[in-house]
Amino acid sequence: MSSAHKTFSAPPATPISDISATLTRLRTTFQSHKTRSVEWRKQQLRKLWWGLHDNESDIAASLWQDLRKSEHEALQSDGIWLKNAIIDALGDIDTWVKEVPVSADLLSKAGSPTIRKEPLGVVLIIGAYNYPFQLTIGPLLGAIAAGNCVIIKPSEISQASCAVLTKIITDYLDPDAFAVVNGAIPETTELLEQKFDKICYTGNGVVGRIVATAAAKHLTPTILELGGLNPVIVTKNADIKTAARRICWGKALNAGQVCLSPDYFIVPSSKEAELVSLLASSWRKFYPNGLKASPDYPRIVNDRHFQRIKKLIESTSGEIKIGGQTDESEKFIDLTVVKVKDENDPLMKEEIFGPVLPYIVIDDLDDAIAFVNRVSDTPLALYTFTTDKKEADYILGRTRSGGATVNDTIWHGASHKLAFGGVGESGMGNYRDKFGFDAFSHHRTTVRQAGGWFEAVLDARYPPYLPSKLSQY
Ligand code: NAD
Repeated sequence: MSSAHKTFSAPPATPISDISATLTRLRTTFQSHKTRSVEWRKQQLRKLWWGLHDNESDIAASLWQDLRKSEHEALQSDGIWLKNAIIDALGDIDTWVKEVPVSADLLSKAGSPTIRKEPLGVVLIIGAYNYPFQLTIGPLLGAIAAGNCVIIKPSEISQASCAVLTKIITDYLDPDAFAVVNGAIPETTELLEQKFDKICYTGNGVVGRIVATAAAKHLTPTILELGGLNPVIVTKNADIKTAARRICWGKALNAGQVCLSPDYFIVPSSKEAELVSLLASSWRKFYPNGLKASPDYPRIVNDRHFQRIKKLIESTSGEIKIGGQTDESEKFIDLTVVKVKDENDPLMKEEIFGPVLPYIVIDDLDDAIAFVNRVSDTPLALYTFTTDKKEADYILGRTRSGGATVNDTIWHGASHKLAFGGVGESGMGNYRDKFGFDAFSHHRTTVRQAGGWFEAVLDARYPPYLPSKLSQY
C-alpha cells in the first residue's frame, strides 16, 4: 500500500479556553434554525461523503500508522463503510423526517395527533481509538440527518486518524454547525462541564460513568457505547470447522481491538481438540507466512495497551495452546489461545481488547449458560455456534447482551443498517441508520386541536365535575 508511507502528526490540542466559545457558536447556529432545513442536512451529508471519498487513501494511511491496519480492513470498516451508510441515509432521510400520524382514543383523535421528528440541539460525540472514523462519523450521520449541530471529540490515542478526521470535518462541513475538539482528559473534562443536548460516548465503562455523571448534572441524555466480556458458546451440535474459521476471523480483526471481539469461548470436551486444532489451521491459512510477516494483521495501538495485554498473557495460570509470542519493538502480539481452568484466571477478569482468546471446557449447556451469566452478565455481544435452531433459541432466551450472532462472530455489528448498542454494563442507547436518526431526534407529540365546534364534545372535561360527565369518557 503506497499510502502506508504517508505519515501524519497529531493535531494540536484545542485550547481549553476556546471550548465554550465553540459551543456558543454552534448553539447560535442551531437557534438560527439553519439546521432545520432538510436540504441543508442532505448537503452536509453529501459533503461528508466527498470528504471521505477524497481522503480515502489518507484514511487508510492514518489507520496503518495508528494500528498498522491493512487498507482492506481500514476501508471495509471505516472508509467505504461510512460512505455506504451516507448513501443509504440520503436515500431515506425524506422518509425519516416525515411527521407521523398516530392513532389515539376518540377524544384525542380530533386533534390529529402526530409525532414530529425534531432536532435535539447541540450534541457531543466522543470517540474511541480502535475505529476512529466509524465511531465518530457513524453517530455523526444520525446527528446531521436529525438536524443537530455537533462537536466531535476523537480519541487522542489514534493520533494520525485524529489528524485526518479533523481535516475532513473542518474542510468539508459547515463550520458554524460542526467542530472538532482535539485533546485528552483536560479537554474532554472541559467539554463535559458544558451543557449539551445529547452526548454519545464510545469507550470503556470507567470513563462511561464519568461521562454519565457529568451529563446528569445538566439532565443531558447519553448514548453509552461500552464494552464487556463477549462470550462464545460452542455446543456439541456446532459445525466446528465453520466455527473455527469464524471465531478466528472475529478474534484477529483489528488484532482483537474490537468491542465485539470474542473474549472467551466455552466448548464441550468432545469438541475441544478439534476446535483448537482447526483454530490453529485457520490462522495458518489466513496468514500463510505467519502473523508477524502478514500485512493483514494489525499491531497494538500503543505501549500502554501492549504492556497491559502482555501482562495478561504472563499472568495466566492457564495452558497456552496457540501463540503466546510478543514483540515490544513492533507492539506485536500473536493470536493466543489459552485453556483456563475457571473464571478466576486473570484472562477472565476483564475485557481483553487484544488478540488473546481464553477458553474453558464445560460439557453441560445449562452450566455453560450459568457461567456466561455469572462471568459476563451483560456483554456487548454474545455468540453461539450450533446447528440446532432450538438450541440457539434456548441460549438466546437465557442470556443477555447488547447484540448476538448465531453461528458467526461480529456480524450483528457489521451492518451500517442495524441498530448497534449495549445493555447494562455494555452501555445504553443505540444508533446507525434510522436508529441513529431517532437517537438524535426528539419525538415531539403534537396535537392540533379541533376548533370551536369541538367544544361541545370537550365539555365533559370542564368543572364542575358531575358524575354524568365522567361516564362520557
Ligand atoms: P480511549 O482510550 O480511546 O478513550 C475513549 C474516549 O474517552 C477518548 O476520546 C478519551 O479522550 C476519553 N477519555 C479517556 N479518559 C477520560 C476521562 N478521564 N474523562 C473524560 N474522557 C476521557 O478508548 P478506550 O476507553 O480504551 O476504548 C476501549 C473500550 O471501548 C473497550 O471497553 C471497548 O469495548 C469499548 N468500545 C465500545 C464500542 C461500542 O461501540 N460499544 C466501540 C469501541 C470500543
